[in-house]
Amino acid sequence: MSTVKLTIDGKTAEVSNQLTVLQAAKTVGIDIPALCYDETLEIFGACRMCIVEIEGSSKLQTACSTLVKEGMVVHTETERVVWNRKQTLQMLLDSHPNDCLTCHKAGECLLQDYAYRYDVNFRKHDGEIRPQLLDTTSPYILRDNSKCILCGKCVMTCAQVSDRQVLSFAERGYETRVIFGADESIEESPCVSCNRCVAVCPVGALVDKRDMDKIRSWEAETKIVGCKACEYGCEFEVRSRNRKPVSVVAKAPTNGRPLCLKGRLTTELKYLDNPDAPYRKLDKSFEKTTWDKALQITELLEKIERLEGSNKDGEGEE
Ligand code: SF4
Ligand code: SF4
Ligand code: SF4
Repeated sequence: MSTVKLTIDGKTAEVSNQLTVLQAAKTVGIDIPALCYDETLEIFGACRMCIVEIEGSSKLQTACSTLVKEGMVVHTETERVVWNRKQTLQMLLDSHPNDCLTCHKAGECLLQDYAYRYDVNFRKHDGEIRPQLLDTTSPYILRDNSKCILCGKCVMTCAQVSDRQVLSFAERGYETRVIFGADESIEESPCVSCNRCVAVCPVGALVDKRDMDKIRSWEAETKIVGCKACEYGCEFEVRSRNRKPVSVVAKAPTNGRPLCLKGRLTTELKYLDNPDAPYRKLDKSFEKTTWDKALQITELLEKIERLEGSNKDGEGEE
């Protein structure tokens, strides 16, 4: 590994030769837009939002998958780059519901952010729009396939945990879509409701159902907390309004931190005054349950009761 010097939008970056142009740009404060890139996931290079011009190359290059080189000169916002990004965004919006006003993801949606940044709007057209496929079967996840931009992040993050791998792509071309299990509902699929996929989805295709109707992103005071349910210490975001915690959402899924439902429910119980009732999946359906069963501590509680009972029985005895 060695250090290379390159120029990005006139700024000099001195970085490891193992970094990509996108990562190097970040070190000098330049934010290259990307919908499918996530530093914890494999490089997919599907969205083509991160294209840049590199002097000496006639083709536009994807910054997420191009390694830096000594003396490289990169331009991230040229007229050509911006024109191509606008085309990409327009294509995505053309097959996307015009739903930002009521979408739970509004305010933290990358597609919305980039459409604003590059001044691209929804428009009337005669072409196809992705069909709506709402899946409301899970008490933890709401899925709206018409908003999916096929970035692949959910598929990759779910596959990082060896016993999951619930998500995959089905069909081809315009019909391509992400499916749960063998094209089942969330409830019927082997999904364990860890919400890793929800945490990485850049749009409103997968949203946290327990956060919906509680708070909008722009009014939330947020605090990142570590889960205490096991040694992984996965991260969750506690969202508060007027300093009163109202919801907990999963954050930061990585290879090392699996995220799990038990951790999320434990964090809800710890921070929320009035958490929604927990649900657990039995075979292929969700059922409302009690907190001790959801957190799998029924046996522990019974043991504590037994111990406390035997301590009381022994009280006064010498
Ligand atoms: S996913 Fe984003 S762009 Fe689509 S409706 Fe929701 S906020 Fe708007
Ligand atoms: S909630 Fe977890 S297990 Fe279910 S599909 Fe998403 S990442 Fe996979
Ligand atoms: S559901 Fe979300 S994360 Fe998954 S491919 Fe669609 S947009 Fe990407």
